[in-house]
Amino acid sequence: MAIDKKLIEESIRNILIALGDNPDREGLKDTPKRVANMYEEVFEGMNYSNKEIAEMFDKTFEEDCDSTNSSNDLVFVKDIEVFSYCEHHLALMYDMKVSVAYIPNGKVIGLSKIARIADMAAKRLQLQERLGSDIAEIIEMVTDSPNVAVFIEGSHSCMTARGIKNFPSRTLTQTLRGRFKTDSTLLARLR
Ligand SMILES: [Zn+2]
Repeated sequence: MAIDKKLIEESIRNILIALGDNPDREGLKDTPKRVANMYEEVFEGMNYSNKEIAEMFDKTFEEDCDSTNSSNDLVFVKDIEVFSYCEHHLALMYDMKVSVAYIPNGKVIGLSKIARIADMAAKRLQLQERLGSDIAEIIEMVTDSPNVAVFIEGSHSCMTARGIKNFPSRTLTQTLRGRFKTDSTLLARLR
């Protein structure tokens, strides 16, 4: 489903009026259009399902596994930086760091693809927990591996920019799938 930019423009204009400002004054007259253009970009991921994102980035390499049993191999990509927007306040979630681990199951995904998957999943109205499970689901689909872990830390402007100021509130979430859920030694290797 494509983003309806015209409707966003109209809606932002109404918000400006509701705030008691004049949407036709010089500084604001292009604001609805600017916000619509920005939303189209920062919410790009809303145009696609997880499955469609998986198909988009499904460039995996068949692993040339001469090394007989590699069931303990681990890929861990740390500190991918993304932005997202919380669905409760439409507020920016910033300074977010996403780390993704998986145990290859014959297919290895290019490392830059993991970063692009995280970025696309973040470009939605999100909850940090759901961002983790979206990324895990997409990585599972692309790699055919059920053993995936996603760690996210981030600051939410709906918490940091209102209410009690200067409150050091970083939110940490983890999504564990497959062996990461049951095998604590595996998890320990990520610490
Ligand atoms: Zn919020």
